[in-house]
Amino acid sequence: MPEPAIARLHSGGLVVNYVCSSACAHCSYRSSPRRDHAYISEAAAAANCRVCRSLGCRSMHIGGGEPFLRPEGLKGALRAARREGVAIEYVETNSSWFKDEDSAVVLLGELQALGCDTLLVSIDPFHNEFIPFHKVKGVLRACRRAGMGIFPWVMDFYEEIDRLDDRVPHALAEYEAAYGPGYLEDVLARYRITLCGRAVDTFGPLLPRQTAPAVLAAAPRSCPRLLGTGHFHLDLYGLYVPPGCVGLAVRREHLGQPLDRATYPLFRTLLERGVNGLHELAAGLGYRPGREYAGECDLCADLRAFLAASHPDRFPELAPREFYTADRRET
Ligand code: SF4
Repeated sequence: MPEPAIARLHSGGLVVNYVCSSACAHCSYRSSPRRDHAYISEAAAAANCRVCRSLGCRSMHIGGGEPFLRPEGLKGALRAARREGVAIEYVETNSSWFKDEDSAVVLLGELQALGCDTLLVSIDPFHNEFIPFHKVKGVLRACRRAGMGIFPWVMDFYEEIDRLDDRVPHALAEYEAAYGPGYLEDVLARYRITLCGRAVDTFGPLLPRQTAPAVLAAAPRSCPRLLGTGHFHLDLYGLYVPPGCVGLAVRREHLGQPLDRATYPLFRTLLERGVNGLHELAAGLGYRPGREYAGECDLCADLRAFLAASHPDRFPELAPREFYTADRRET
């Protein structure tokens, strides 16, 4: 059997920061205003792009955190991508930076000149808990004026957000009040949500739950998603985040090489034995399940949180550390 490796990269994104002006209930990265305020340097963005390109990925998106919190840093990341021959598919934004249409059009023009021709604009009730909708509408208008492409994520929510007062943010409870009980469960079905990070806290309780032994009995014997390269991310620290498994990281310099068992014991365990293997390892270190779980990813998150808290220096692959120490839900 060849040693497992992340040998090719298909499509992914640059995480330029983890700090965010929002703290969305569905955020798989647990971003918030309280996260580390660091922003990717031009050199780190270039190094990430170089590795991606060498492993077959020629275009990426830019996400965060909120990439627009430091426009100069964002421009640096765009310059780096262009220099390294990596096309930027889109830059994600929550629109919190919007002040007025004229200044937004100027900034968008500067980004276009550096190779960004589309913004993914977040349109959903989670962001609307923190960002008044008039800002989102302002960014959409500015994009149209500047000729910037718009990737609305998700347009399906536009009208129900717009029916509420767009001058102020609205709590999810207001959506439940306006559109009926069960609204949140309904959103779960309409929005492609990865059960990871803060989304586990928000949506886990809404899903059917089972005891840990029942989850383990039904869990697959391997987690091949860890080697999936369809929606990966590379962050400002040079950490590779597998698609949908935030909190497990491979160092940039180890991409394309076999994942060494001594350096990546948790990756190897999950690849070879799935969450059952991780449970066995954690149980040997004192883990005891404390509740019921909405499937193997919920249990996996609990096991990793236990390992990160109880053995902080033993598993460097549990990264970035702030993912495990960040508040579960900002208020
Ligand atoms: S069980 Fe863990 S490693 Fe496997 S897919 Fe779920 S979160 Fe990722």
